[in-house]
Amino acid sequence: MCSGLGEKKFKLTTFPVAKNYEPSMVVLQHIPVRSVCAHHLMPFYGEATVAYIPDERLCGLSKLSRIVDYFARRPQVQEELTSDITGFICEQLSPLGAGVLIKATHMCMAMRGVSHAGIMTTSSLKGVFLSDGTVRAEFTALAHAENLNKF
Ligand SMILES: [Zn+2]
Repeated sequence: MCSGLGEKKFKLTTFPVAKNYEPSMVVLQHIPVRSVCAHHLMPFYGEATVAYIPDERLCGLSKLSRIVDYFARRPQVQEELTSDITGFICEQLSPLGAGVLIKATHMCMAMRGVSHAGIMTTSSLKGVFLSDGTVRAEFTALAHAENLNKF
């Protein structure tokens, strides 16, 4: 559950974009999130959508999942997990922007206190995801789209 703590921070393998590449959004949806709440040491789990718009470098798509795992496998606070992921992408890829949205259920909320299994949504937006309304709207629509696992 906490393997991310002992793991060395990894370096993303990146590739240069083609010369005639026009920046557009790269999105990975339905990434499983399995983590442990840092306050109560109880699980929280859900799904993440991770996106970025490359500037000069791309990374392998599966690496976006790997980044989520790396930061999730340790006691976490969902808000911080979300911004850890965009921070890492910005640091390693210097993209035009990045966005992460996580929806998760927290067992600490479902099993104690209000005993209500709500879904918590957190998002972190950087660069054009924050400053450009069109980009933000495209990302938000994709991140909230349901049932895309049909194939
Ligand atoms: Zn908690």
